[in-house]
Amino acid sequence: MHRDRGVSKTEIVGGPLDRKRINDALDKHLEKSSTSRGLNGKDKSKQLDHTANNKCSDEEYETDSEESDVSGSDGDDTSWISWFCNLRGNEVFCEVDDEYIQDDFNLCGLSSQVPYYDYALDLILDVESSHGDIFTEEQNELVESAAEMLYGLIHVRYVLAAKGMATMLEKYKNYDFGRCPRVYCCGQPCLPVGQSDIPRSSTVKIYCPKCEDIYYPRSKYQGNIDGAYFGTTFPHLFLMTYGHLRPQKAIQNYVPRVFGFKLNKP
Ligand SMILES: [Zn+2]
Repeated sequence: MHRDRGVSKTEIVGGPLDRKRINDALDKHLEKSSTSRGLNGKDKSKQLDHTANNKCSDEEYETDSEESDVSGSDGDDTSWISWFCNLRGNEVFCEVDDEYIQDDFNLCGLSSQVPYYDYALDLILDVESSHGDIFTEEQNELVESAAEMLYGLIHVRYVLAAKGMATMLEKYKNYDFGRCPRVYCCGQPCLPVGQSDIPRSSTVKIYCPKCEDIYYPRSKYQGNIDGAYFGTTFPHLFLMTYGHLRPQKAIQNYVPRVFGFKLNKP
């Protein structure tokens, strides 16, 4: 479905600025292609690594398009961001405002971290281009992966900003991040957290504000999302911002018993 969206983009809309941006990006791409036939060895291993990291997401696309033909048929009306956030497992992401992404200040430093940056950004912002017929299938997939990564790295910044945090609040109230699996936490809603701020270090976990511990998400789809797209700070800044949501600490603990007797601790 995603791929179809890319290929169907044959029309260039927007002002001369957009056109200039597309042409600049295209020139850059052609330069790269002519010197290294698209990808040099080093880049390729990096790219493939990333593709492998997102293998599950690719499966999601397939599953998604198989199961929901309806969303596929009206795919052109859906923004890339809405489409991405509605993929199975991606309900932990909030939809980042276009305005936020269009502000270069918010993207500072990301162009050096994300391959195919310009293309990835165009894809995220639904900037129409005629690149579909130039890219090979493999390159399209790399741009799609890059777009996911770019979105994730924008997302981790957005959720620390006021507007993003407010959006995450709505999702928290809706139990979108799941509940704590610990019995004595009584279904406490959780928040997403990363164990590292460096991409590809670890997958996203859920943090329970009651027992103050982290767990694997229940959904295997969520279990493959990069933790750096949420970061180490988010749930804690969230609970500082919305202090009234901080639950009382869990006081009840499980006590192991044998025939009713507590076990002596050695
Ligand atoms: Zn808990």
